[in-house]
Amino acid sequence: MTVMAYVPDTPPPTRWEFRMDRDALEAPRILLYHDITLGGRVSPREAARRLRSHLEHLAMAGYRFASVDDLLRGHLGPHDAVVTFDDASRSFADIALPMLGALGAPVAVFALSGLAGRADAAAVSMSWRELRECSARGVHVGCHAATHVPLDEVPAERMRAEITSATRRFEEEGLNPTTFAYPFGRYDDAVKAAVRDAGYSAAFTVMRGGADVFEIRRRLLSGGEGPLQLGFELSDRFFETRDAVRRFVPRRFLLQERPIARGRWGAGGFGLSPDPAEGATDVGEGR
Ligand SMILES: [Zn+2]
Repeated sequence: MTVMAYVPDTPPPTRWEFRMDRDALEAPRILLYHDITLGGRVSPREAARRLRSHLEHLAMAGYRFASVDDLLRGHLGPHDAVVTFDDASRSFADIALPMLGALGAPVAVFALSGLAGRADAAAVSMSWRELRECSARGVHVGCHAATHVPLDEVPAERMRAEITSATRRFEEEGLNPTTFAYPFGRYDDAVKAAVRDAGYSAAFTVMRGGADVFEIRRRLLSGGEGPLQLGFELSDRFFETRDAVRRFVPRRFLLQERPIARGRWGAGGFGLSPDPAEGATDVGEGR
């Protein structure tokens, strides 16, 4: 089944060349995990067991693991699963990456420039060196902005600085990200435009969106979903049902589009104070 209506073997599309329809975006399963130890509330051993059971479920259900590049080239169908991780947490590097590597499964990781270089964040975040190593091994390394603020809420100036300063840092570190993941999955037209203007060819969100390649929807998973729930999250009806549920169920009862770890926004909810080098001013408590 052709999922995206453009010719294969062409470079990833820009917004001007192509608009994906919502159904097309939903056809390949695009999964999003964060820190699978949930900020230390789940032991590394248990987190590994949970992730392994998810990957086994996917394989047994007939899904093929595919890459972001395949996705953007429109090569994927409904039996393809793209695994992505936001925040480049330690548990991604130490648990998920070796496991996915052993399976030969492609993976994408979206990192924060404001965390990757910080010595005091080494316990929660991958370093630039690790991200470079990942990239050299074929992991798709994308940008997740600088300090994990909701880009649709901060002043426009700050929003653009979050995107451009992060992009510049990635480039200084020898990484050239082509895709972007919105912190908390949050964006509006101005944020989309800023990401496009910064040179990105696609951007990922969570749950909502789906109109074009700058709002690719992902299915948010904590890692703790059992087989039944995972089956639902992978189903064709998932987004539809989810949208309906959202209309009636208060937000606080739903798994939020935010990092699992709690804390102030300044450093992505990782319990770290903002990095002054990022020029970031704290904008308030996370919800
Ligand atoms: Zn994040």
